[in-house]
Amino acid sequence: MQWETVIGLEIHAQLATKSKIFSGASTAFGAEPNTQACVVDLGLPGVLPVLNGEAVTMAVRFGTAIEAEIGRRSVFARKNYFYPDLPKGYQISQFESPIVGRGHVEILLEDGSAKLIGVTRAHLEEDAGKSLHEDFHGQTGIDLNRAGTPLLEIVSEPDMRSAKEAVAYARRIHQIVRYLGICDGNMQEGSFRCDANVSVRPMGQKAFGTRAELKNINSFRFLERAINFEVERQIDLIESGGKVVLETRLYDPNRDETRSMRSKEEANDYRYFPDPDLLPVELDEDFIAAITAGLPEMPDAKRHRFMKDYGLSAADAEALTAGRALADYYETVAKTSGDVRLAANWVMVELGAALNREGLDILDCPVKAESFGGLVARIKDDTISGKIAKQVFEAMWAGEGDADAIIEARGLRQITDSGAIEAAVDEVLATNPQQVENYRAADEAKRPKMLGFFVGQVMKRSQGKANPQQVNELLMAKLGG
Ligand code: ADP
Ligand code: MG
Repeated sequence: MQWETVIGLEIHAQLATKSKIFSGASTAFGAEPNTQACVVDLGLPGVLPVLNGEAVTMAVRFGTAIEAEIGRRSVFARKNYFYPDLPKGYQISQFESPIVGRGHVEILLEDGSAKLIGVTRAHLEEDAGKSLHEDFHGQTGIDLNRAGTPLLEIVSEPDMRSAKEAVAYARRIHQIVRYLGICDGNMQEGSFRCDANVSVRPMGQKAFGTRAELKNINSFRFLERAINFEVERQIDLIESGGKVVLETRLYDPNRDETRSMRSKEEANDYRYFPDPDLLPVELDEDFIAAITAGLPEMPDAKRHRFMKDYGLSAADAEALTAGRALADYYETVAKTSGDVRLAANWVMVELGAALNREGLDILDCPVKAESFGGLVARIKDDTISGKIAKQVFEAMWAGEGDADAIIEARGLRQITDSGAIEAAVDEVLATNPQQVENYRAADEAKRPKMLGFFVGQVMKRSQGKANPQQVNELLMAKLGG
C-alpha cells in the first residue's frame, strides 16, 4: 500500500512589541523570574486589560504581506482551561473572528517548482507563563514573565505532503516575520514555535486520516525529524491493524521519537466566549491601506526580481533573499563588482563559508559589501585569479584593508605577460624531461591528468600568479597536445 502524508502547521510567533499585549510590563527575554509580571499579567481581581496597538499593527502587517483577508472587526475571546502558569484560568485569544483570515505563501520544492500553501487564519493571543520543573526538587516553580507576551498564531491549511514541504513552509513564515521585523524568530528562546499536525492516508483517498499534533519542536531540523518519525509510526500502526488516535504528542529530540502527552481537547472543551473586558477591534480602510503602503519588498517579490534582473536560478535567488540584510549585501556586491553572477557565487560560497565558520550574521560581517564588491571586480577584470582571490579575501577578513591595497602590498597581481609565462613554462619543461617524454608517449585520454602536473609546477614557480588559462594553452602548444 502506498501512503500519502498530510501536514498542517500551527506557528506561534512572539510579536516584537516592547510591552505586553494587555499590560505595560516589559517583554524582554531573560529577566529574573516574576520581575516582569504586573497585576494584569498576574490576573489579580479588579484590573482590566488594555490592548497594545502595536500588536494589532504587527498582525495586520503580517496579514497584508501574505495577501490575506484582514478582519475588519475581530473579537477577543476567553479560552478557558486550568494550568498553574495561567493565573486567570483563561487565555485571551481570538476564536470566531480572527484579525487575519485566509491568505497564502509560496514555497519552493526540491525540483525548483513553486507550490502555494494556504494560510487558514492568524489570530492574536497572549502567551502563558512557564512552569520550571528542573530547578526545584520535588516542586514546580512558576515564572510569569512570559504571561501576556503577544503571540500571533498562524494556522496553515493541511496542504503539505512531506516533512520537507513542512520545513520549507515554516522557513518561509519565519522569513516573512523577520522581513517585517515583527518577530525575532529565535527558536531557542521560544519566540518562534511550530506545532505539526500529521496524518497519513492511502494514496488516492480523498478523506484525511486522523491526525496527531506534535509539540516541543524547537528547530527546523527537529521539525523534519519529528514528522518523519511520526509518519513511520502511523503507517506501522495502521499496517499492523491499529488505529491512529487524535492526540497531542511530544517530540523528544534525544531519542528522536514522539510520545503521547494527552488526548486532544476539542474547541468546546474550552468554553470559548467573547471577553467582556475588551472591545472588538475595528479597523478602518485608511489604517489598512497605510500598512500595505509601508510594507518592505517581501521575499517572493525579491526572489522573482533577482531571477529576472540578475538571471539567477530559483535556488540561488532563494538563498540570496533568505534575509533582507543578505539580499542588500548581495545587491551592493553585484553593483560594485559589475558582474552579477560572479557576485552571487562569491557571496554564497566564499562569504557564506566564512560567516558559517565564525558563526556570524551578515550584519556582523567584517568585510563591508562595497569592499567585497571590489574584490569580485578584480577577479572579473583578471587582475587576480579566483585562487588568489581567496587569499586576498582572507586578508580582507583579517582587517588588512581593501582588495586593491592587499593585492599591491603582497604583489599578487596576476601575471598575464605572455613572455614571463613562457619563460616559466620553458623552465618547467626543461627541468622535467622524463615527464615530458611520458606525456608525449601517453594516449589522449590520459593526457589531461598528466598536464595538471606541469600546470602545478608553473603555478608554483609564479607563486600562483600566472594566468591559469594562458599557462594551459602554452603548455599544450609546447607539449604538442
Ligand atoms: P486545533 O486548534 O484543535 O489544533 P485546528 O482546526 O486549528 O485545530 O487545526 C490545526 C491544524 O491541523 C491546522 O493547521 C490544519 O491544517 C491541520 N489539520 C487538520 N486536519 C488535519 C489532518 N487530517 N492531517 C493533518 N493536518 C490536519
Ligand atoms: Mg492545534
